[in-house]
Amino acid sequence: MFLAVRAARRRGVSAVPETQDPHVTQPSSAKFVYDFTEGNRDLKDLLGGKGANLAEMTNLGLPVPPGFTITTEACKVYLESGTEPAALRAEVSQHLDALEQKMGKKLGQADDPLLVSVRSGAKFSMPGMMDTVLNIGLSDASVSGLAAQAGDERFAWDSYRRLIQMFGKTVLGVDGELFEEALEEAKRAKGVRVDVELDAADLQNLVAHFKDVVAKETGRDFPQDPREQMDLAIRAVFDSWNTDRAKLYRRQERIPGDLGTAVNVCSMVFGNLGPDSGTGVAFTRDPASGQQGVYGDYLQNAQGEDVVAGIRNTVPLADLENIDKASYDQLMQIMETLETHYKDLCDIEFTIERGKLWMLQTRVGKRTAGAAFRIATQLVDQGLIDEAEALQRVNGAQLAQLMFPRFDLGAKSEMIGRGIAASPGAAVGKAVFDSYTAVKWSRSGEKVILIRRETNPDDLNGMIAAEGILTSRGGKTSHAAVVARGMGKTCVCGAEELEVDTKSRRMTTQDGTVIEEGDVVSIDGSTGKVYAGEVPVVPSPVVEYFEGRMHAGADDADELVKAVHRIMAYADRVRRLRVRANADNAEDAARARRFGAQGIGLCRTEHMFLGERREMVERLILADTDADKAALEELLPLQKADFIELFESMDGLPVTVRLLDPPLHEFLPDITDLSVRVALAEARHEKHENDLRLLQAVHKLHEQNPMLGLRGVRLGLVIPGLFAMQVRAIAEAAAERKNAKGDPRAEIMIPLVGTVQELEIVREEAEQVIAEVEKTHGVELKLTLGTMIELPRAALTAGQIAESADFFSFGTNDLTQTVWGFSRDDVEASFFTAYLEKGIFGVSPFETIDKDGVGSLVRNAAAAGRATRPDLKLGVCGEHGGDPESVHFFHEVGLDYVSCSPFRIPVARLEAGRAAAESKGSDSR
Ligand code: ADP
Ligand code: MG
Ligand code: MG
Repeated sequence: MFLAVRAARRRGVSAVPETQDPHVTQPSSAKFVYDFTEGNRDLKDLLGGKGANLAEMTNLGLPVPPGFTITTEACKVYLESGTEPAALRAEVSQHLDALEQKMGKKLGQADDPLLVSVRSGAKFSMPGMMDTVLNIGLSDASVSGLAAQAGDERFAWDSYRRLIQMFGKTVLGVDGELFEEALEEAKRAKGVRVDVELDAADLQNLVAHFKDVVAKETGRDFPQDPREQMDLAIRAVFDSWNTDRAKLYRRQERIPGDLGTAVNVCSMVFGNLGPDSGTGVAFTRDPASGQQGVYGDYLQNAQGEDVVAGIRNTVPLADLENIDKASYDQLMQIMETLETHYKDLCDIEFTIERGKLWMLQTRVGKRTAGAAFRIATQLVDQGLIDEAEALQRVNGAQLAQLMFPRFDLGAKSEMIGRGIAASPGAAVGKAVFDSYTAVKWSRSGEKVILIRRETNPDDLNGMIAAEGILTSRGGKTSHAAVVARGMGKTCVCGAEELEVDTKSRRMTTQDGTVIEEGDVVSIDGSTGKVYAGEVPVVPSPVVEYFEGRMHAGADDADELVKAVHRIMAYADRVRRLRVRANADNAEDAARARRFGAQGIGLCRTEHMFLGERREMVERLILADTDADKAALEELLPLQKADFIELFESMDGLPVTVRLLDPPLHEFLPDITDLSVRVALAEARHEKHENDLRLLQAVHKLHEQNPMLGLRGVRLGLVIPGLFAMQVRAIAEAAAERKNAKGDPRAEIMIPLVGTVQELEIVREEAEQVIAEVEKTHGVELKLTLGTMIELPRAALTAGQIAESADFFSFGTNDLTQTVWGFSRDDVEASFFTAYLEKGIFGVSPFETIDKDGVGSLVRNAAAAGRATRPDLKLGVCGEHGGDPESVHFFHEVGLDYVSCSPFRIPVARLEAGRAAAESKGSDSR
């Protein structure tokens, strides 16, 4: 056997390397290098995902080529100081010695060279973002030794040309195109189509050519010293952490920029030794549907990335059974071992060297949102994980994705091709054929579909900008598919009947139809179908399920719906946070209820003053001294009717009604329009008494900062009778519902309170009104009265405010504005992008609660409020109530409920369940 491992690899878990290395006894802080036998999967921070899992597989007794991992700590030192840590060189030498002993040959040894790969591997997988160099150690001196050992001249030259190509591009920074062109030229000269048709002599010539390219481009010769090759490659991996494309990927995926990458030095195994060798990738289940089966691609006589690069056509993994039955059976066995061990879907890279199977990588695989739900329930059924763990395997963002609409299968549509359903979703947009155009067009508001023959890491920008990605080559594991799935972006790949011509920016279908740049196409990432024109969309089955139009119990129910139903049941069972809806009308309330809302956390009353009712509000404002009693009296029955409907649709559940909040000017005509009207009327000598008075009032009420002006409780205190009228409408509506045998549970909420005195005044008046209504209707209403906490002063004096409040509802939108001093509408448009780019915050504080600032006020106010009034009910009604990360925070702070828009309710329920399951898990640990 070509690559016999002399020392038998040990089975089972072993933390001690087989050779006695003095460094093992050194304190761990000084240790920068770990043998594969020393690590394990929990050391991802230190060894990166790839290194940790190579160690895990090694210790499971799987056939992993021996090697060692340089830690992310070493990389951090390098990135900070610009040089490798002093101790690194010696440590690498020790581990290399041990590796050489184990393999029975020295790195680059002339008659029998040990070759290694130098592979990047950060904590989080960043597919294709950083660099790996194979065949390190090969040189002019050892290439014939390699040929003799393998008995294969062609193989040795092929390996050498690959080394110079990868090393030249990645380590020496030579433009990769130059090598590609030389390779193309060699094939053209010989009149062949693919690289395997080049023979030893051709490849030897190519090596000479490649060396010339290196010398010409870099001003130095390709390094012949094996150790120098290795050291330079290690440094190149460190450097690749900070390439533009890696940085962009991290920002997109929210991976911190300071983690650094580990470097894996792994002895080479060769898939390019002829037809009995090859390389492949596999999934233990379908990453698109979750179904168990044989998923992957295999390519004979190939090395490394060949299988995903689309240079030759791969075969489906199932075909390996006919090519090499023994290796296939062993691979299936190993895949099962890995799934049972990791208790999750794994993806795998492997190589077969002359009939011997080697494992080169595994990790818990990326998957689509739908597959995540299905896999989680499948694993529960298999007894591999419990319900609490199942909740950790999915998240709210995935659920939200499953609620996006899909193509209407009944609609008329023109299918023009079909590829592999690589990442689900329904995407419609204008065809573009390069990333630059994708970015440019999407910036000007166009929706685009990026169409490529295949994608590579340079396409990342365009992929981010596009609605969806369509490629004509590559399988489920191609770059486009893997990256799109990671981004949750629709992708159809390998649509081979579509001929993509990126140079002339067009795509031709099998029957000759031409799609030009700018033509609209629709792609379905769930079926792989590609359509010309725009296909209409319909609600997703998951939404149909939440709407109650599809039942999870039905025999023909969608597998996905069944899985979602089960996971939601797990979440509802464990969660402590209740979930309410922000809903202003009966229709929204009814939907919220179908989606699982346990009440309304915020009913705004503003809209009840708009439309035809606006004129009454104008009259209210025009009343100089006392509020216009007549206007109030006209509004009362209208408001009451609104509330009756609402209480009816939420019968038995709490409904928090917020009294009028926004600044008055929102109800008044625009100041310029009104001025023009008055001026015109004057010029025409028409009657304009009313407009003139209105104009004066508008002038009087004009504010520089309306959001900090006369609004909320301030308005209620300044316009007599306004809040009393609203309270009366609520109370009478509740009384009528009671008398109609309903179960109304209204909670009256006062907005924008800054001090307890404001609340006391409103409360006194409200209690009087309620008592009156109870008396006249002969019912006991049990209405509660509470306040929003949305000003810093309210949060800071929460202990006092609780004396007058039955509940607090944190209005985290306004609280974020007032704590940061941000005017949301202004800052988001003007400088938030710059702040996000500079990393001042990773995500807008309006999207995810700012735990340190706004969050700490929430935490302290909750504690102070409860200290005053232990039964104080606590909730949140800002948009953060539907944001996954924020929901976890509110759980941890001990709120009673979150309230969010009806459509986000399932997400909030799921995340509340996940938060509870997670904190239970950590309690018992
Ligand atoms: P990536 O992180 O981009 O997947 P890898 O470090 O896994 O990069 O390596 C790139 C390719 O080279 C993969 O196909 C991998 O399987 C292959 N490879 C890496 N190390 C070896 C090795 N020692 N022997 C053979 N093939 C290798
Ligand atoms: Mg890999
Ligand atoms: Mg507010």
